[in-house]
Amino acid sequence: DAVDFVLSDTIKGSNNDAPQLSAAEVKKQTIKECQESLPIYHYKESLLDAIKEHQVLIIEGETGSGKTTQIPQYLYHAGYCDDDMKIGCTQPRRVAAMSVAARVAEELGVKLGNEVGYSIRFEDCTSERTKIRYMTDGMLLRDFLGEPNLASYSVMIIDEAHERTLHTDVLFGLVKDIARFRPELKLLISSATLDAGKFSEFFDDAPIFRIPGRRFPVEIYYTKAPEADYLQAAVVSVLQIHLTQPGGDILVFLSGQEEIETAQEILQDKVRRLGSKIKELVILPIYANLPSEMQAKIFEPTPPGGRKVILGTNIAETSLTIDGIVYVIDPGYCKQKSYNPRTSMEALTVVPISKASADQRAGRAGRVSAGKAFRLYTSWSYQNELEQSPIPEIQRTNLGNVVLMLKSLGINDLLNFDFMDPPPAETLIVSLEQLYALGALNHKGDLTLTGRKMAEFPLDPMMAKTLIASEKYGVVEEVMTIAAMLGVNSAVFYRPKDQAVHADNARTNFFSPGGDHLTLLKVYENWAATDYSTQWCFENFIQHRSMKRARAIKDQLQGLLERTEIDLLSNPMEHVGIRKAITSGYFYHTARLTANGLYKTVKHQQSVHIHPNSSLFEEQPKWVIYHELVQTTKEYMRQTIEIESKWLVEVAPHYYKEKDIEEKKMPKQRGKAKAELG
Ligand code: ADP
Ligand code: MG
Repeated sequence: DAVDFVLSDTIKGSNNDAPQLSAAEVKKQTIKECQESLPIYHYKESLLDAIKEHQVLIIEGETGSGKTTQIPQYLYHAGYCDDDMKIGCTQPRRVAAMSVAARVAEELGVKLGNEVGYSIRFEDCTSERTKIRYMTDGMLLRDFLGEPNLASYSVMIIDEAHERTLHTDVLFGLVKDIARFRPELKLLISSATLDAGKFSEFFDDAPIFRIPGRRFPVEIYYTKAPEADYLQAAVVSVLQIHLTQPGGDILVFLSGQEEIETAQEILQDKVRRLGSKIKELVILPIYANLPSEMQAKIFEPTPPGGRKVILGTNIAETSLTIDGIVYVIDPGYCKQKSYNPRTSMEALTVVPISKASADQRAGRAGRVSAGKAFRLYTSWSYQNELEQSPIPEIQRTNLGNVVLMLKSLGINDLLNFDFMDPPPAETLIVSLEQLYALGALNHKGDLTLTGRKMAEFPLDPMMAKTLIASEKYGVVEEVMTIAAMLGVNSAVFYRPKDQAVHADNARTNFFSPGGDHLTLLKVYENWAATDYSTQWCFENFIQHRSMKRARAIKDQLQGLLERTEIDLLSNPMEHVGIRKAITSGYFYHTARLTANGLYKTVKHQQSVHIHPNSSLFEEQPKWVIYHELVQTTKEYMRQTIEIESKWLVEVAPHYYKEKDIEEKKMPKQRGKAKAELG
């Protein structure tokens, strides 16, 4: 079952005379040689001149040219950190912020967290001494609450601007405004390729500084016919390359952790079976939730004579540069969030990528020498089925968080906020309505005291409201635990395929009456009772790393209680109170069991299903609240609890009236169904 490819065209290289290095040669370079070999190095002086001359500068350069790691260092050495000022650099992804900060600390020869540090949600690795601060874009947005004019920064770099994440898009509007009344603040907007013109236009025609890339030609191969199973095709292609192509590492783009783990398993199995007949193949995953020590492995040198294959998400498209990649396998899909304001349903689905992404992915193969990109779709499909560029996140996501944040910054007229691409008005209006129903805004649209408190927490507005409501029921500690556990939710239970039965047993042992949130609470409480034992996690198929992270999140939330004047009340037995607190925050997420045994959301009558992993899957209670919806083969509610319908009217009288929760329809429908049958 080989995959048939045809060579279609070649992306031209931009610098064909540059010496082509093997991965091993690249790795042998000293830090200084490495820095000097980056395309940006030759433009250091002219870049610094341009920054001196202009307040706002758009910087465009291919991935790997040195923008993220080098520019902050150039500025640091040029004196931009004198007088106790800092250089900030935002990253759309947590992993990138951490890995890049580590790299720059190494290049500068300092300890990470001292002169160079990073800040991501729930983790601050900076200190008083920090001069170069990498952070997620969401983190900078949050910082605005404490420092609305970014007074401690001399330079702010909005990096990877082309990714157009929600937070980056909102930052554009905010920093543009600040630049007007802080003329000494330098603003750099840095982006991989494309769109520089658009950024320039938005920032009042700011000049564009282009760093010519250094790229070797990349041959593009397409499959002859569409592939039914791209995961299988990707695995087969890896082996084909490994067995037939000369040295050079392979990068495979997959949509997420689950796919990566599956591919890794299949591949490992096949390699094991081939045994010593083939050269060593080192299989390495990279995705956002991967623990950082595992992430660091992708940068380790390839063993001599062997080959690395990196199974990565979009994160490897532009945010991380891995040297030595010569072959790229691109199935043509990524995971994308979508949002329907009419039903207020959010879904994470696997969708085809855009042409811009496909080209970006292919480009990853031509960094150190000429490369090859294998696309697991047809040339026709590329030409006719892929969109030109991705839709910015701001146009396909729930804006509750951002609206709350902007309101707390005193920005009231959101419909006229300076967005590069405005979100759909309907989405903004729905967000305002939801914040109103949560009690965060009053009828004039102004922030209430509750809203102000909610904004203090780095949580979704619904979770923030749950936490605030938990005080009333005396269960603050328990709700904080649940919030922390939901924060690492997808990675709590460990389920290796060869021990699936044991793992499932271990998991169901934690099931608690009332639903999944209480199950998570039980896991945490039992763990805490062992004094946070690693061994206990191991025995119970719980991921220790996730638990440690949950503990850190909980600590951070606890640190915010004083500021928001919430008492740390605790009552582990008060399960009704816990469920009522959750209802106070998540009342939009209510579904009821209908006559035909299906669940429908209460307000929008959408069909949804309890996830088979849920403790409520068998029980099928009449009313449930879910934490999130995921769309796979069906619309699944993930993490559900059972509630009583009257709580809805009790905790959210703005939103639910008696008529919404009346039970009258049930017998009627049943009668009708019978009549139809008979
Ligand atoms: P750009 O931002 O223009 O895409 P970067 O500054 O991220 O470029 O990367 C420049 C070079 O720095 C890469 O080619 C790679 O060699 C090196 N590099 C970046 N991050 C790391 C890391 N975490 N570990 C080792 N090397 C890295
Ligand atoms: Mg970069």
